[in-house]
Amino acid sequence: MKFAKNKWVEPGNPHTIGRFAPSPTGPLHLGSLYTALASFLQARSQQGRWLLRIDDLDTPRNIKGATDAILKTLEAFGLLWDDEVYYQSRHIDVYNGVISDLQRSGLIYPCTCSRKTLATDGGTDIYPGICRDRQAPPDEPHALRVKVDNRSIAFQDELQGLISHKLAEQDGDFIVKRKDNIIAYQFAVVIDDDLQHVNHIVRGYDLLDETPKQIYLQQLLGLSAPRYMHVPVIVDEQGYKLSKQTQATAVDLKAPQRVIFELLRLLKQNPPVELQQAPAADLLDWAIEHWNADLLKNAHAMSADFG
Ligand code: GLU
Ligand code: ZN
Repeated sequence: MKFAKNKWVEPGNPHTIGRFAPSPTGPLHLGSLYTALASFLQARSQQGRWLLRIDDLDTPRNIKGATDAILKTLEAFGLLWDDEVYYQSRHIDVYNGVISDLQRSGLIYPCTCSRKTLATDGGTDIYPGICRDRQAPPDEPHALRVKVDNRSIAFQDELQGLISHKLAEQDGDFIVKRKDNIIAYQFAVVIDDDLQHVNHIVRGYDLLDETPKQIYLQQLLGLSAPRYMHVPVIVDEQGYKLSKQTQATAVDLKAPQRVIFELLRLLKQNPPVELQQAPAADLLDWAIEHWNADLLKNAHAMSADFG
C-alpha cells in the first residue's frame, strides 16, 4: 500500500523517528508524562526526531481544552517536538480509503454482533467469527472487522524480550471500525506511524498486547514494522495504573524540575542529587546524554510515591 508523501519528514530518513501520541481525554498526568519523557529521551539520545500526534478519533472521550493543556504541559517541561502536531481527526479520509481497499479484497467484513450476543456466545474476548461469511451487506449498524489467520506474530521488544502471539487463538477477527463509525485505535495508529515515518515506538507496557494486531495490519498493508519498546507504567500505592479513572492529577507545571527529577528516578536513570535543584532544561540535557533504556529491562510497572 502506498501513501502520499507527507510534509512532516523526508522519506528514507535513516534516523530514529519517535513519537508521543496522547489522547486528549484530559491533562497529562504523571503516567503519561513518564511515557512522553521515555520516548523523547530515546529519540533525542540518538539525535533522532520526536513527533507529536494527538489521538483524537474517539470523540466521545475527548475533553474540550485537553489538547491545549497537553501542548502547554509538554512545552513547560521542555519536551519540544519536531514539526507540526499531527491530528488523527484530519486523516479520517485516509483511514477510510485503506479500509475500503481491504474490504474490496475481502479482508474486512461487516459485523452486526452486539456485545450481548458475544457475551452469551462463549463470553470470551475472542471473536468467534459469527459474521465472517456473511453474503449481503447488512443494512443495520455494523462494525468492521479484519480477518486474522493462523500466522503467529513475533517481535523483539527492546525491553520485554521476544513476544510471540497468535491472533486467531488470542483475539480472533478484530474491529477496525466501530459501530459508531469511529476508526479503531489499532487501525489508525498503523496508518499514522507509517504516514509520519515513525520507526521507533516507545510507549506503555499496557499497550504490549495491542502490538501484535498492529504488526499484523502492517503485514497486510505491506508496511515496514517499527522497533518497539514498551516501558513500565506508573502505578499508585494500590498498584493501579495512573489514569483518568484512578483520578490521577495533572502534573504540576510550576515545578517542572521536581517532576522531571522524579520521572528520571522512576525511569531508573539515577539522576545525580546535585541536579535536584537544576533547571528542567539542564536535567533534560543530562538525561539525553546518559539515557540508558536497558535499566528498564523486563520492568512492567513502577510505583510512584507522588502522583
Ligand atoms: N493514544 C494512546 C494512549 O493514550 C497511545 C497510542 C500509542 O502510543 O500507540 O494510550
Ligand atoms: Zn458479528
